[in-house]
Formats: sequence, C-alpha cells, structure tokens
Amino acid sequence: MTFSGNAFSILMHEEGIAELGFNTQDAKLNIFTTAAVAELSEALDALERSADLKGLIITGNESGFCAGADIGEFQSQYRGGPEAVIATVSANIRNYNRIELLQVPVVAAVNGMALGGGLELCLACDYRIAADNAVIGLPECNLGIIPGWGGTVRLPRIAGFDTAAEWIAFAQQQPAVKGLQAGVLDAVVEPERLRDAARHTLRQCIDGKLDYRARRRQKTSPMQLNGVELAMAHESCRGVVLMRLGTHYPAPVAAIDLIREAAALDRDAALALESSTLATLTATPEAHALTGVFINERAVMKQARSWIKRSDRGIERAAVLGAGIMGGGIAFQSALSGIPIRMRDIAQRGLDLGLSEAGKLLSRRVERGRMAPAQMGQTLNNIIPGLGYEGFDGVDIVVEAVVEKPEVKLAVLAEVEQQVREDTVLASNTSTISITSLAAALQRPQNFCGMHFFNPVHAMPLVEVIRGEQSADSTIARTVAYAAALGKKPVIVRDCPGFLVNRTLYPYFLGFMLLLRDGADYQQVDKVMEQWGWPMGPAYLLDVVGLDPVVHSEQVMASGYPERMTAIDDNALSVLFQAGRLGQKTGAGFYQYQEDSRGRPRKTPAAETYELLSPHCDALREVSTDEITARMIVPMGLEMARCLEDGIVASAAEADTALVLGLGFPRFRGGILRWMDSVGLDNVCEMADYYAGLGGLYQVPESLRRLAQAGGGFYND
Ligand code: NAD
Repeated sequence: MTFSGNAFSILMHEEGIAELGFNTQDAKLNIFTTAAVAELSEALDALERSADLKGLIITGNESGFCAGADIGEFQSQYRGGPEAVIATVSANIRNYNRIELLQVPVVAAVNGMALGGGLELCLACDYRIAADNAVIGLPECNLGIIPGWGGTVRLPRIAGFDTAAEWIAFAQQQPAVKGLQAGVLDAVVEPERLRDAARHTLRQCIDGKLDYRARRRQKTSPMQLNGVELAMAHESCRGVVLMRLGTHYPAPVAAIDLIREAAALDRDAALALESSTLATLTATPEAHALTGVFINERAVMKQARSWIKRSDRGIERAAVLGAGIMGGGIAFQSALSGIPIRMRDIAQRGLDLGLSEAGKLLSRRVERGRMAPAQMGQTLNNIIPGLGYEGFDGVDIVVEAVVEKPEVKLAVLAEVEQQVREDTVLASNTSTISITSLAAALQRPQNFCGMHFFNPVHAMPLVEVIRGEQSADSTIARTVAYAAALGKKPVIVRDCPGFLVNRTLYPYFLGFMLLLRDGADYQQVDKVMEQWGWPMGPAYLLDVVGLDPVVHSEQVMASGYPERMTAIDDNALSVLFQAGRLGQKTGAGFYQYQEDSRGRPRKTPAAETYELLSPHCDALREVSTDEITARMIVPMGLEMARCLEDGIVASAAEADTALVLGLGFPRFRGGILRWMDSVGLDNVCEMADYYAGLGGLYQVPESLRRLAQAGGGFYND
C-alpha cells in the first residue's frame, strides 16, 4: 500500500507497520489546511483498505509534528455562520474517529510543535511518544474559540478534568516533560530515539503487551467521575479561570462548562456538543477580534522578516548607553538572547544597579526552573559594564537610553558616534524627542533611528522602530533585526511627537483630565476602564509609570499638536505633580501606596488627592459609564485614525498590534481600529461630534469622516 500527497504520505515498513507522515511539501510548517484535511481522509481510505496492516505510526517532519489548523482560513469559515462551521469541522472529526476505529494500534511520534489540531490528532492515537524538544498544547482559547477536533472530549478523558480545563482555558504551550507528568504523553525520549521508541510501543501493542483497546474505550466512554467530583472540579476550575481572565473571554469558561456537560456522554455525543459550542463561539465579537489580533501579529512579523532580509549584517555585538531602568532592561534582554552587550553609564552606581536588576530577573528564572544556574552565569557574563567606551569599536548597534533631556542626548550621541565603526547603527530609546531633531548631532544621520522599548523591557513584547527623515533603509533593517533577535515584535513608524504609541495614549490621558475637571471621580473612571478591559485604569496607570515623564511630555505633545493636545491649566496631573505626588515610586500619586507583606506596593484611595483637586475641578458627580467610555476611548481612536492618515503607521494591522502589545489594549477588542469598526465608524463620529464642545481632542479627522460616510471600516474582514 502506498499513498503520496502534498501533506500526507504512507510508507510501509516491514512486518505490516505503516508510517503516516505529515510532511507538507509546499510549506515549512505542517498545518491543517482544508486540503490537508481532505488528504488525511484519502490516506485513511488507503489504510482501511490494507489487509496486511498490523500497526500505524504517525509522524511529523523536521520542523515539527503539526502547528494546528490554518488560522488564515478561519475568518471566511466564520462568515458562513454556525452551520457552516459545524460542517467544516466535521470533516476532521470524522478523520480522527476513523483513526480510533482502525483495526490496528496507532502510535503518534511527536517532535517539535504539536499544537491545536496537531495535538488533537495525537490524542486520537492510542499512544503518544514525544521527543524531548516537543511542545504541545491547545491554544484555541487565545483565538476566542475552543478546540473543535475532539480536544475537549479526549483530553479530559486522558488527563482528567483539572488538567484538561487548565490546558484548554489558559491555552499555554507545554513542554514535553509537563505532558509526560500530566499523562498526556506516554514517554519522552531524545529526538534521535523517537522513531525506535514509537516502533517499540507499537510492537508491544501488536504483541498484546499493551492494551490499546482499553485506551480507546477510555476515550470513547463517559468520564469516570461521580456527580460530586464533577461538580467540585467544575466549580473550582471555573472560579480560577474567572479570577485570572475576568469576564471578557467567553471561550475558556465555555470550554469548562462544556467538559462538565459532556462528561456523562459517550464520545460521539460529546463531540456533537463540542461542535455546537465551537460554532456558537465563532460568531462572537471576541473570536472575531482575537483571530484578528493573531493575524495582525503575523502580518507584523512578516513585515519584520522582509526588513531583516534587507539587513546588510547580523547583530553579533551590541552596546547600550545608560544603565537605568530601560538601559538595564535592554542589556538583560540582549544578554538573555545571546547577544553580548556593553553597558555604559557615567555613574558606577548606575552600572551596579543595572547589573543587580539583571541578576534579580535571572535568579527569578532559575527559581522557577526556567533557566539552569550555569546559564545564569553565562548570561550575566554577556553584559560587559563600563564607564568608558572600550569595545564600542566592535559593536553593530548602540542603543542610547540616557535621561530624557534633548541636550544630554544630543551630546551623548555626538560623542558615541566618534567611538564606533562607520557602519554602526545608533538607535535612541527616547519616548518623545524627535528622531529627526536628534539626528542633527550626527555626522552620519543615515545610521540613526529610534528604537522605543516599553517598560519593563523583558515583559513588553513591542518595540517601535522610528524612521527619522534621514534614516537609511539599512539602519531600519538592522534595528528591526536586533529587535526580533531580542524576541520582540517590531513595528516601524514614522517620526512625529510621541511616535505612534504615546501619540495615541496621550489623548486618552487628556480625555481623563477633562473628565476630572468636569467632576468625574478618578476611582470611578479607573473602575469603568478596567471593566472595559484595560489591565489598569488611567489613574493607576499614571501612578505606575510615574506622573513626571507624562508631565514632561506635555510640552512636546502640546507643541506638536497645539490644536488638540494643549493641556488644560491646573489639570489633575500637574496639580498632583506639583504636590510631589509622582506615583508609586514616591508612595503617592492619585492613590496612596503601602508595601504589602510580600513587599509589593498596594494601593488605597487617597483623601489628599480629592483635597488637592477640588479647587480645580467641578463638584464630584456620578458620570455614566457610556460618557466615561466615549470621552476616554474616542480621542485615542481619532488620533490613531490621524496616524494612519499621516502615514505614521502603514497599516491597521500594525497600528492595532502596537497598542495591544505596547499598551495592553484589551486583546478581546482587537485594537483601537478594530473597536471603532465594531461600534461602527458613523457611531464613533457621532460620539465625537457630541463632545466637540470639549475642544480639538474630539475633532473628527477628515479621512475618518469620509470612511464613515462611505460605510467603510479599517478592516475588510
Ligand atoms: P533612568 O533615569 O532610569 O536611567 C538613565 C541612566 O542614564 C542613568 O543611569 C544615568 O546615570 C545614565 N546617564 C545619564 N547621562 C549619561 C551619559 N552621558 N552616558 C551614559 N549614561 C548616562 O532613565 P530610564 O527610565 O531608563 O529612561 C531612559 C530613556 O528611556 C529615556 O529617554 C526615557 O524617555 C526612555 N524610556 C523610558 C521608559 C520608562 O518607562 N522608564 C519607557 C520607554 C522609554
């Protein structure tokens, strides 16, 4: 028996053992396109016809087992409606059931990624043997849906309620060793032993030493839990999910409810319930937005790869100027990514602080088992601190992260340019100062651009790469390559005050100032914005980032956009700033802070804030949720529309990715542009017009008005 397709092929080995290889010819990664699903069905026809078949191994290729379904096909499938979704998923459900019905044992040999539909394929097999480099998981909830090819049915029957609920709801990738501990994998071996180990397991099944039929019975029968056990497992898992994810993500909760409901059913009834739950979820705005976020991030990385191809050289060595919060973070991230970095500061104290911060972050990794102690030493050795410029003539890129003062930055950049090779790229981590204006200090402005990291550097995935008027393509390319090498997602933007992220964040803060002036309570605004989906409300956010950098950027933003970003006199921010309440770092900002038993700052409402603000604000009043939402979010949306209009950012995908990754814009809303599309651009314009009396902040840009009038949107999906 032979079968050879584009994705699947069958190879007969000796003694009736067949190998079904998933090895897509025209793509590097194995994914389940509609065509691959159809081909699997044909391969199964061939296997079912084979009279001399004794056992089957399913394998992947060098790049992994299978990364799941083709997410690029999702949006068009969802457009067909729930019935069409059920029809689509049923094709692979049938395939996987047929694997479980084969008259011979089936073993999955898993290497690399087995995610989503890839892991579900493994779960349909009787045994799962994995290489120690395997990474498995069911990430569907990240996309606002649930596994739809039997994952919610087979995983709980194999690994139990709690494990299945946790893996599915939190959608995390699991290393092979965790899979083994959870009973999802039967053995983990070195990659070179994978095939032999899978064959050995298969042989044991054929020889009757392993009862593969018992495995199948376990997966096709109801779960072995009594009513009380089931109710307890369900309640506790649901509680944990709601506590960690909040109420904005319907899929994880639906998955847990589904596992419970289907627990008493046999496989086929449970699968039917899974399909209908999935179909319902595909029609939610959350699934639409979260799938959009994934597709946008993929577009950003595609764009990054095309820039990296243009980079004339790789980044082997780097340097950072300034060992403060940001410089220290950049040095840590570079060292962790295997790129040695020189860290220069003018103060020994700064260097010591930078190194000790890096040490703390590394120790935490070691404690959590995410890094071997020896690797910690190596990583620290990758940071070479110094007060001078030794070794700067050997670096490919220098990131400037000294204090946010134009005169200091101009001097530092001019000085470092003398110390590096002619082709070394210089990049500034400034948050606000124009890249084009900083280039004035340089003899080689073409080698200079912005590289805006977010705080804390190790945790925030976005880097804005800012193109000044004179930045050369090769400079952008190398900076993008460095950002990607640090594991970051680079979005390329044009120079303007605030660049992209801070330019759109600032109007949100101004909206907040106007609300406070008009009698809103900062605590109520925080609550409404947190319920809207932000990780923290604006007052708390300002406290965490510090009021001082935002006050200092007032001037830059006001002179950049005087018609709409001139701050009102005696606004809450400046009043608190002048009173020395700079936020968490000074123990007081909008809120009061005290360390809890674990040394973390805990916020409590501050009476002083009300006292300080009351002379400058209307009497406190209850403001409606709708008013708060419109006055806070609409200015951000209008500004993002302007950024697109002005060509600061090239596409809606990059714009939304920047806010989701750089600001923590609620993922389930997909980004500010996706949010505007979801409420309707005409409604956005109407809300803005309603508040037009508040000033230029609510002025609708022409391009947005035109798009709204044409009934269009930022996305065509
Ligand atoms: P910081 O005050 O923590 O650190 C600045 C460091 O620069 C200090 O250690 C100081 O000694 C050093 N320094 C001053 N002059 C120097 C010189 N001539 N040569 C070498 N080192 C010098 O500041 P930070 O928060 O790390 O900010 C640094 C830059 O990053 C600023 O431009 C800031 O706007 C930007 N940024 C900050 C954040 C943030 O949240 N902190 C976020 C994004 C960008």
